[in-house]
This record gives sequence, C-alpha cells and structure tokens, in this order.
Amino acid sequence: MNDTAYGISRLRAVPSARNDEEERVAACARTDGESRAVAAAPRIAKRLTAWWEANARDLPWRFGRATPWGVLVSEVMSQQTQMSRVVPYWQAWMELWPDATALAGASTAEVITMWGRLGYPRRALRLQECAQAVSERYADELPRTYEQLVALPGIGDYTASAVMSFAFGRRIAVIDTNIRRVLSRVFLGKESMGGAASATERELANTVLPQDPSASVMWNQSVMELGAVVCVAKKPLCERCPIAGECLFLESGLPGLGEKRTRPRQRFQGTDRQVRGIVLNALRTLPGAQTSLPREQVESLWKDHVQLDSCIASLDEDGLIEILADGSLRLPR
Ligand code: SF4
Repeated sequence: MNDTAYGISRLRAVPSARNDEEERVAACARTDGESRAVAAAPRIAKRLTAWWEANARDLPWRFGRATPWGVLVSEVMSQQTQMSRVVPYWQAWMELWPDATALAGASTAEVITMWGRLGYPRRALRLQECAQAVSERYADELPRTYEQLVALPGIGDYTASAVMSFAFGRRIAVIDTNIRRVLSRVFLGKESMGGAASATERELANTVLPQDPSASVMWNQSVMELGAVVCVAKKPLCERCPIAGECLFLESGLPGLGEKRTRPRQRFQGTDRQVRGIVLNALRTLPGAQTSLPREQVESLWKDHVQLDSCIASLDEDGLIEILADGSLRLPR
C-alpha cells in the first residue's frame, strides 16, 4: 500500500516538513484509516446485500434474465443516460436484435432509428461495430476476458468491467461515477471530484471489493445502485441510507457536498447537441414512404442556418446522416 492509499493522508493536514514524531503519528493515522476501511467493508457489504435484496430496481437485464450480450447492450445504453429511461429502448432493441449477429446485419438507418432519443447517437454506431466484431471474431459469443472485451470497438474499461462482473460473475472492480462517489464518501469522507478515476480511487475500489466472486458482484451492483438512488450527487438521502452508520462523509458533516473538479454541464437549449437531435429526430420520424428530408424542410428545423449547417456537416462526418446532391438529408442506408 503506498503513501496515498485511500487518500487517507489527504484527509488530514499534512505539513511539508515534519519531524520524526510527526511522521510516526501520520503513519499511524494512515494505518488506522486503512484498517478502519478494511474492517468496515464486510459490515457494509452485509448491509448493502440486505438493502439490495429488498430495494433493487427490477430492470429487465438484471437477476440473470439477460444474455451477456444483453448486459453489454444495457451498459452501453446506460452511459450518460439514466437506467430507468433506457428500459423501453433496451426492450425494443433486444426484441429486434437479440444477439450480436442480428444487430450486425441491421441497416445503419434502422440502428439510428431504434436508438431514438437515447442521446449521443454515435454510441449506436459503435455498438453495431462491436456486434460485427463479436459476430465475426467470436462466432456470436461475447468473449470472457477483460482484455478481449476492452479490445472490442466502443468498449472501454467501465463496460468491460461491468460485463465481466454482471454477466460473467468475475471478481473485478467496476468503477463508474456512482461507485466512485459512494466509495469516496463512505471510506474517504470526501467527494469524488469527477474527471478520470484517480489511482487512489482505483486502489480503494480494489481493496474494499470482496474476495469471493459472487460477493464481489453483489458489492458492485449494490454500491452502484446506492449511488443511483440514495447516495445521489446533490442531495444524498442519508436519512434513508442503509450504511449511514459507517459513512465518514456523513460523520464529517458532508464537507464540500456536490463539489466537482469538472466544469458544470453545458445547458442543452440552443446547443449543437440540441440541433443535431432535432435533425436526427426529423429523419427518424419521416412520414410514410418518405425516405429523405428536402432542403426547405431541413431549413425550417432551426432558425440559425450557420449553426444548422455546421451540425449537419458534423452528423455527416459521424456517419449518422447522408447529404444528397440536392441538399436533402436521409439516414444512411
Ligand atoms: S450516509 Fe449519505 S453520504 Fe454516506 S453513503 Fe449514505 S447517502 Fe451517501
């Protein structure tokens, strides 16, 4: 364990020059903090298991009801989108394309249409690329190692870890925003500051993860769920929290509640994201047999034509639309 294990040294004011006695006291404090975290983790796991069993949301990809591919699709859809919003999209998607090979054979237009208003539609195209790789390289079976998963198109550390844990029951720390927030509050007594996960956060996540694989899956899913519905970013519901008695952040009076290193999220109204969404939505919902949107109808979608054209160009660059010779637009074939 290094000097900053659990960031515990940062919980206390550490002077730049210290005498031997101060060093000894600081080292003891770190050891005490680490021991406290390690000792508390099994008690916390027990409480979280009981809480999960009584309170977990009944999402259709949970409780062993989805294939590994279905779990992966749910994880990709849930990035930057609330899980409760994802449910109808995931159900319709899995009904149409139950496995990777089915999705690999779909047209780009169908994929973009089915992605609907989930947002960040490039994820849909990456998911289809992933499906093509799984279908071709692995005969439609999702590979079972972290290294193989993370090498698939569009699959990063988080999704690969989540699939290893939730679909394959392997012991691996899953590190998403919710888990980081909960672990940082409970064990370090401070806010996780956003941005990329720090080495300290990764070390903490690995150290408090139960050794037993099935207990580690329960830990990952219950900590994540607690972060989604109780230990939320701005107003944590500490009075309803099953681990309130173990939480250093609560004990310390919720210092710096809601603090983030990252900039506040950009407002949506008037942004390129909104304009891109409007254009895509118009193409997804073309009436009857109409397959393209004429230029005059395109221009009626957004008043600022400079912004509109720049968004159309970026959608084209991303492979999400096609611009025809007469300026009309359509979804890619
Ligand atoms: S007590 Fe409050 S801050 Fe601590 S884990 Fe529970 S909800 Fe989060």
